[in-house]
Amino acid sequence: MGNVGAKDVPVLLSPEGLRLDGRRLDELRPIRIEAGTLHQADGSAFVEWGQNKVMAAVYGPREVHPRHLQQNHKAVIQCKYNMAAFAVDERKRPGLDRRSQEISKVIAEAFESVVFAEEFPRTSIDVYIEVLQANAGTRCAGLVAASVALADAGIPMVDLVPAVAVGKVAGQICLDLKKEEDNFGEADLPMALVPQSGRLVLLQMEGHMTEEELGRSLDLGVKGCREIYDRMKAALRERYALTPVAGGAA
Ligand code: ADP
Repeated sequence: MGNVGAKDVPVLLSPEGLRLDGRRLDELRPIRIEAGTLHQADGSAFVEWGQNKVMAAVYGPREVHPRHLQQNHKAVIQCKYNMAAFAVDERKRPGLDRRSQEISKVIAEAFESVVFAEEFPRTSIDVYIEVLQANAGTRCAGLVAASVALADAGIPMVDLVPAVAVGKVAGQICLDLKKEEDNFGEADLPMALVPQSGRLVLLQMEGHMTEEELGRSLDLGVKGCREIYDRMKAALRERYALTPVAGGAA
């Protein structure tokens, strides 16, 4: 949503209603999820989603560092989201910036809603997210990767947490924005869902849309999250060589 001249803005929707990469409005980018990619971590996952590539590693429950963050009645969930300096083609300053701090915070808060932290008092559950290649929607890809990594680490949770961004592009509500749609679109709305309860545990918005459009965006995002959820469960089943349970509750 930068300040650019009209001549720089790509045609985001074709007359047939197809997007820059040929997707329909309600279509996700291709997504591949692998659980257990890193052997050293207690749990890990790699997510390739469109042109995003994101690795997540989970350690814990383990001793809390720094010690003053320790909580007597529950585990603290510490999350570090980082985008590699080579993850984008424009120059990005390496290291911790305000954007990474904000994303780390909202992801940690999303997991606080689902992890049974009271089972592990005075410990830390450390979630690391490294974005190796970025093309919009990396906080959602990071959440998906970290959620599978938490399950891979055997951390007890209410449910997995699928996430996706919805937005308004060329006047239309679209699922799973890519970089150009995020940059030149009218709104970007990342969200994360707890499928079991239907609760949203992350919801942010940049840009503008009407109340009616917001309602449609939430419906589309929830539908997208449910598709991602199936992929997350499939990745875990593949890792542990499980076959689906009849009724789909696995
Ligand atoms: P998200 O990645 O969750 O969509 P943003 O909306 O902040 O988060 O970023 C959108 C996209 O903009 C990123 O995925 C990335 O492709 C790009 N981007 C973000 N920060 C930078 C940066 N400092 N330099 C270059 N590109 C960036």
